[in-house]
Amino acid sequence: MRTTLLAAAALVFCTGAFGEGAPRIPCASGDKACALKRLRDHPAKKLEFWKAALAKPVGERIGPAPAALVELIAFDNIANSFPNKPRIGSPPPEFVADVRAAFDEMPEAVKKLLAQRYAGIYFVDDLGGSGFTDQYIDSAGKAAGGFIVLDPTVLMQHTANSWATWRDSTPFKPSANERLEETIETRANDNRKNAIQYILLHEIGHVVAIGGSYHPNWNLKPDEIHSTREFPFFELSWTLGGKPRRYETIYDKAFPQRKDIVYYFGAKIPADQMVATYEGLEKTSFATLYSATHPGDDFAEAFANYVHVVMLKRPFEIRLYTQDKVAKTYTACWEQPRCAPKRAILEALLKN
Ligand SMILES: [Zn+2]
Repeated sequence: MRTTLLAAAALVFCTGAFGEGAPRIPCASGDKACALKRLRDHPAKKLEFWKAALAKPVGERIGPAPAALVELIAFDNIANSFPNKPRIGSPPPEFVADVRAAFDEMPEAVKKLLAQRYAGIYFVDDLGGSGFTDQYIDSAGKAAGGFIVLDPTVLMQHTANSWATWRDSTPFKPSANERLEETIETRANDNRKNAIQYILLHEIGHVVAIGGSYHPNWNLKPDEIHSTREFPFFELSWTLGGKPRRYETIYDKAFPQRKDIVYYFGAKIPADQMVATYEGLEKTSFATLYSATHPGDDFAEAFANYVHVVMLKRPFEIRLYTQDKVAKTYTACWEQPRCAPKRAILEALLKN
């Protein structure tokens, strides 16, 4: 699943040329058919490729992307018409130290979930987004685990609160009268390491869900999903409907803005509906607005927000301003009845 966190910034950083560490890609930039063919059966999507990484302690699985992984992302970008030309990332040591610390400071219960199914965090410049998580399969073709890719160039300058404020402002059209401010860290802890930690918790949420009973495999189209009964987390909020079939939520009637939530590119919701949108969100079981965009992100956001707020006891507050006055404050849902069923599933998962 491509998580286009900070994708807009990634485009700004796009050099448009292959630099050092860029593999030679045997598909032309517009040739989607070629890229899709190469993506099928790609070595970096196989468990075998990640065996050596999986043998290391979880905290040691961090480093520059192997060439085959960069190649996989290059094919994926061509298949998705992203202009970005990925290359092996080589962030400065202090950035790598931040990523290591962000990971090391996560609860042991999170790290335990990863031992068998997480190949690590790999750096790629000009990724086309700040985060990318995909799955690898075993010899029987079953989803066996996942790997995380980060683009250091787009994360370099952010602190936790600047990143969160930026991300959650993107679904709303810019306005002189309305704005959103978000706090996910105290002033003393508002640094880059903690921005990376929240982003990583989201990506780890995707890895944890691979092959699990939370939501259908994100590589399947809604048309290809025959039953959702085996995904109780999904069934708390989502259904399949429409023609062609698509993901809908059980709240769509009472929460009309839900369908217009678009992150990063092409804001659709007028800023004067910010308060109404968050009032709508409070009638759902979604932990954050981003949760309401896709079943996979529903789980990844719930996982990240639950670990951040409940387990790590960090702040989470979104303030909606109208004419420089706070018109609404949105806080974490974990003590509220609306999120209790999802909380129970997360508690069971993290009680290890
Ligand atoms: Zn995601």
